[in-house]
Amino acid sequence: MGLSLGDPPRYQGLRAKLISHLEKKGIKDLVVLTAMRRVPRHLFVDPTFIEHAYSDQALPILCGQTISQPYTVAYQTELLQVHPGHKVLEVGTGSGYQCAVLCELGAEVYSIELERTLYERAKALLKELGYRPLLRWGDGRLGWPNYAPFDRILLTAATEEVPLNLIAQLAEGGRLVAPIGKENTQTMMVGTKIKGTMKWEEKGTFRFVPLRTA
Ligand code: SAH
Repeated sequence: MGLSLGDPPRYQGLRAKLISHLEKKGIKDLVVLTAMRRVPRHLFVDPTFIEHAYSDQALPILCGQTISQPYTVAYQTELLQVHPGHKVLEVGTGSGYQCAVLCELGAEVYSIELERTLYERAKALLKELGYRPLLRWGDGRLGWPNYAPFDRILLTAATEEVPLNLIAQLAEGGRLVAPIGKENTQTMMVGTKIKGTMKWEEKGTFRFVPLRTA
């Protein structure tokens, strides 16, 4: 970790408390909890909200976007079932926090962000923290054909329908996790590609910022 980016014991303590809260709320995957235990979320939030970095809530970031609630990050990551070496595509880099959690799981992470400001910031911060994802500024609905197929695909913004490009870029046997629905509420969906066809499961109700057109 760079000298300018501290992780003082007080934040480490608050983070440990957040992790046990997530465990009580039903997150069981120790690998996910351990990964989140290692990522300094306070460095990914807007400095205005730094004191709330370890409460279980979504917080505003630049460009009118949000860093997802820690429970939501834990839940989506658990559903994704990432193994070391998996190629994972994230749509909606935002602050870069979820991306860092995926890197901690030992995945080869590809993440796309529509807002240039967020892309630039996430890129600088993740680099400073020693993470090595591949980031791209652009429309994530198109996926990233050059690196397809992906073992896992994660959408961190809401959509009424999963873009067909993303389904096409999911590997056989791969999993895709996405909040699907209209603006106010979405259903968390897990899709598995079996013999070229998607099988879908519903996994609860959430609220995300929308996946936008470029
Ligand atoms: N994973 C992020 C959460 C970001 S919120 C984090 O950990 O902080 C969703 C993000 O999706 C926003 O940053 C938004 O700008 C981005 N987004 C919206 N539409 C997009 C699109 N079509 N392609 C790529 N990113 C998009």
